[in-house]
Amino acid sequence: MPYVIAGHCLDVMDTSCTEECPVDCIYEGDRKLYINPKECIDCGACEPVCPVEAISQDRRVADDMTEHIEDNRRFFTETLEGRDEPLGAPGGSHKTGPIGVDTPMVKDL
Ligand code: SF4
Ligand code: SF4
Repeated sequence: MPYVIAGHCLDVMDTSCTEECPVDCIYEGDRKLYINPKECIDCGACEPVCPVEAISQDRRVADDMTEHIEDNRRFFTETLEGRDEPLGAPGGSHKTGPIGVDTPMVKDL
């Protein structure tokens, strides 16, 4: 049950969560951040530090934000704008740096 970042992060992006993650699996888009479900170890360390309560386990995402469960996954499994292949599981956001683009769903929000 990975953790998910929902829409409250949009345009907030203070990155407090990335400081807490022991496996560095929170990646920065353009308007929000995304948790890699393949890399998240479900430790929960990121959840309490988010000032806008954007982070929760996937089964506890608010009803009006459930589209973000699949969208966090899509950020890594689908080819983002300007890239040749999906991000997959790159092994940490410190390696990749900010990705700088969002999923098509988030771009349209
Ligand atoms: S639950 Fe733990 S491993 Fe998963 S994103 Fe949050 S801090 Fe990282
Ligand atoms: S702590 Fe919350 S608002 Fe800040 S970047 Fe992480 S998910 Fe977004």
